[in-house]
Amino acid sequence: MLADPPSAPTDLSDRDVWVFDLDNTLYPAECDLFAEIDQRMTDFVARFLHLERTEARALQKKYYAEHGTTLNGLMTLHGMDPADFLAHVHEIDLSPLPRDPSLADAITGLPGRKYVYTNGSRVHVDRVTKYMGLSQVFDGAFAIEDSAYTPKPAQSSYDAFCSKFAIRPERAVFFEDLARNLAPAHGMGFVTVLVQSDKDWSHEPEAARPAGIGDDHPPHIDYVTDDLTRFLRGLTRMTIRREPHA
Ligand SMILES: [Mg+2]
Repeated sequence: MLADPPSAPTDLSDRDVWVFDLDNTLYPAECDLFAEIDQRMTDFVARFLHLERTEARALQKKYYAEHGTTLNGLMTLHGMDPADFLAHVHEIDLSPLPRDPSLADAITGLPGRKYVYTNGSRVHVDRVTKYMGLSQVFDGAFAIEDSAYTPKPAQSSYDAFCSKFAIRPERAVFFEDLARNLAPAHGMGFVTVLVQSDKDWSHEPEAARPAGIGDDHPPHIDYVTDDLTRFLRGLTRMTIRREPHA
């Protein structure tokens, strides 16, 4: 486990907006929820483009690497209607997800507004947050439909997100499991937190893996944690200055 980089801000008391990616951020990557989404995407691509499964899978990963999401590649290059794709790929079994109230408590304990910001669909956000007991803790959610299907890390997606909820990045903190999605956020003024896991991604083509950050901390990552709940609790104890009760 990496320690927080020495350059990280030590005081987050000026931050009152908290932004969370969904998949592999609000729940640990070890839940492997994406494995089923991943297989369902392959099924969809095979059916949609009349390909063998192996070919479909290679194309799926290529589009993910080159277009941010498989969906975006299919829309850009094949003019696909996103609705059927999103409905099909997110119809998954949620039972691997944790139902631990301590995360809901930790998020609720943060001062200010909280949002989910995902490249997944709105239905997926609703299902996952409901299952995890998180549906009441957020002030809003931004799904792929909200950015006209343009995914993170495209700058236009972050701009649409901030505009929709009137977010000033210099007042906000951004939590993500994909290092590459933190680069635009950091450039805009967000404090960035990489939520990491020890999950082995070596079965994925290199370009489709979450960027490992190795022994270096890229300058666009302010904090690294392998336990979101613990990290948030630490913040509320140590760095959030609360107004005294009147
Ligand atoms: Mg994620």
